Amino acid sequence: MKLIDGKQIAADIKEEIKAEVAAMIDNDLPGPHLAAILVGEDLASQTYVRNKEKACAQVGILSSIYRLSAKTSESELLELVDFINKDDEIDGFIVQLPLPDHINPDRVIQRISPEKDVDGFHPLNIGKMVTGLPAYLPATPFGIMQLLERSGIETEGKNCVVLGRSNIVGTPVSILMSRKANPGNATVTICHSKTKDLKAVCQNADILIAAIGRPEFVTGDMVKKDAVVIDVGIHRVKSDKTKSGYKLIGDVKFDEVSKKASFITPVPGGVGPMTIVSLLLNTLKAAKKKAPK
Ligand code: NAP
Repeated sequence: MKLIDGKQIAADIKEEIKAEVAAMIDNDLPGPHLAAILVGEDLASQTYVRNKEKACAQVGILSSIYRLSAKTSESELLELVDFINKDDEIDGFIVQLPLPDHINPDRVIQRISPEKDVDGFHPLNIGKMVTGLPAYLPATPFGIMQLLERSGIETEGKNCVVLGRSNIVGTPVSILMSRKANPGNATVTICHSKTKDLKAVCQNADILIAAIGRPEFVTGDMVKKDAVVIDVGIHRVKSDKTKSGYKLIGDVKFDEVSKKASFITPVPGGVGPMTIVSLLLNTLKAAKKKAPK
């Protein structure tokens, strides 16, 4: 079994981004600028935005955070989106989800200029991804594709099973895996809560991508020998073995599955670090082209 070291791969990509940003600045070009809008006090969202800010600083990307109160109305948020859409100094921006209940996230996402939609959530970017046109790819699926590519994993002609059909992970990664591209060209089955005999479907997977949001759901008996297993799940659970009293686990029962897999991502240190790096890559792309060509 080989461990897919997402932390190392993410660090390598960050070095590459840093060199490209430095070259832009050396050539008197404006460096990339990422903005984030954070509405409310959600603790996890604050951590995610802080981590994005830190990652930007590590590679020389300028970042700005717009912090709005949880009471901000939808129209006030949309006004800010319009303002950033027109701000030539900002190459790309994200609106951190989830938003407070009184704001419709779809209306907000659809208001983001597709040229600045570095999260890849705007329907235009999703449509481009589906039809195989260059687009900003959603961060986690983009990160998974890079993990596969940089680990030298062959995907062509393989049976790929994706567990989960969310808009941010399962559905887009299933599209990318079936695209006429490399990595891609896999035969993809996408599973969800209504799938019958999930175990049998999983046992047929050469590549199993678990994005189901259930701790240690995928057990050893569900996995074919020598399968490639990508664990997207992140769950914080109590542990008496760590100082903090908590540890992170994934959607895959690592101890069992790692004995059968040929390649597997750990949690933490697998898919997680790739998500932020993908956002940085999209921001660099936005700064270089202003719009994906
Ligand atoms: P989500 O929106 O909750 O979607 C979960 C999907 O799994 C749904 O499609 C659901 O089916 C399906 N599902 C749930 N229980 C099932 C069961 N018993 N059998 C079959 N299918 C089942 O989750 P998500 O946002 O995609 O996230 C998935 C996991 O990835 C979470 O643990 C999340 O924390 C993690 N995540 C990690 C990163 C990262 O950077 N590493 C990024 C995003 C998410 P239905 O559609 O039928 O309900």
